[in-house]
Amino acid sequence: MALVKRKSDNVLLRTALENFYGAAEELKLPDGITDMLAHSERKTCVSIPVEMDDGSIKVFEGYRVAHNSAVGPSKGGVRFHQDVCLDECEALAFMMTWKCSLAGIPYGGGKGGVCVDPTTLSKKELERLSRTYAARIEPVVGAWTDVPAPDMNTNGQIMTWFMDTISRMRGRLEPAIFTGKPIPLWGSKGRNAATGLGVATCAIELMKVLGKDVKGMKCAIQGFGNVGSFTAKTLADAGAKIVAVSDITGVYYCADGINVAKCFELTGTSPKRLLTGLEKEPGVKMIDEIQSCDCDIFLPCAMEGSLTADNAGRVKAKYVVEGANGPTTPEADAILDQKGILVVPDFLANSGGVVGSYFEWCQDLGGFFWTEEEYNERLLRIMKDNFHRVWDFSKEHNVKMRRAAFLAAIKRVADATEMRGVYL
Ligand code: NAD
Repeated sequence: MALVKRKSDNVLLRTALENFYGAAEELKLPDGITDMLAHSERKTCVSIPVEMDDGSIKVFEGYRVAHNSAVGPSKGGVRFHQDVCLDECEALAFMMTWKCSLAGIPYGGGKGGVCVDPTTLSKKELERLSRTYAARIEPVVGAWTDVPAPDMNTNGQIMTWFMDTISRMRGRLEPAIFTGKPIPLWGSKGRNAATGLGVATCAIELMKVLGKDVKGMKCAIQGFGNVGSFTAKTLADAGAKIVAVSDITGVYYCADGINVAKCFELTGTSPKRLLTGLEKEPGVKMIDEIQSCDCDIFLPCAMEGSLTADNAGRVKAKYVVEGANGPTTPEADAILDQKGILVVPDFLANSGGVVGSYFEWCQDLGGFFWTEEEYNERLLRIMKDNFHRVWDFSKEHNVKMRRAAFLAAIKRVADATEMRGVYL
């Protein structure tokens, strides 16, 4: 029977499916395996009644999707946002399967969320919403089934409410069900810097395979939040020259190199963690656009859609290492390719975050905690291995790194699915 391809009206899910079907064809996957991987194993929808502070009751919609568990439990964040819907969760779960697979960790992809604008809730309302969501998805999450984590607008406090609720329901502590917890509550040392450390490691390894040295390389980093700040610090520590950093307050440029320690000092003392005041440092000036500044490596670490058909033509960097999720539109990707700019794709470069979550889960299952040095040493080893695996695959098959990463990721899950077979 011919394969009937899934379609979706949701742009994120449609794109995820189209990309997957293209890769499945290239890998010559059997139709049955393609069809299995194009469908999620479980899609859970829950209603979440919350008693508001004024005594009224409001009902929110929540979701949890487990896309695939061929190589291990599903893994992926929970987001609280007014645009969350089932299709978006499914698309993001789909992408998590490939990210975990590429990272070589024993997880499939999952994602969840609640359709809510959390800024409209009081802390008590947020706690009641979080706990009721956890209670309603309790039957489908577990350390060996589906392991949620923070995502947009969720954090360590919310993970703690989730863990506490399910632990009480089950009558035993369940620390390994959720990652991204605070350190005293079975969280992990090292997680804060993990994604940035991984992004910078990819840039450093890229220089090595090209026979170059990262020392003195001019780097421009968009976004100085969790990812951007530790990317900047790791690259500066390795001897790179950080010529530009940016955040929502603007773009700060210094041809002689930005003082990264000063950036941490400014964001550390600013209530909204902003870089305001950096323009007063010697040699620093504000410029209009970071994408087109004079640099060797551009690292978008802020938000999706930073490189578009409008600005990609102006990029002067020879290399782009994607710290953010989806920072390059497909049109911009084609332009960068035409210009001969080498791109290290997001789901390779920023996978330090999910590898870090895996480390937290390992520690929680064993009840034995690692030092930050042990954590970083293991993270570096995994990130380097993954970078070289994708680099070698791209050379061997003569494809771009993004394609190589995608094909390698799908192949691992397809092989596992085929080996495990169809149940009964
Ligand atoms: P964050 O909120 O800590 O920081 C975001 C930074 O980007 C802030 O400095 C903010 O001011 C800046 N920013 C936002 N909009 C901007 C704009 N239009 N122009 C310039 N700067 C802008 O977020 P984060 O955790 O660092 O995440 C950044 C990106 O990395 C997101 O795409 C996220 O999905 C992705 N990511 C994060 C992790 C993680 O572990 N934190 C893991 C994988 C991927």
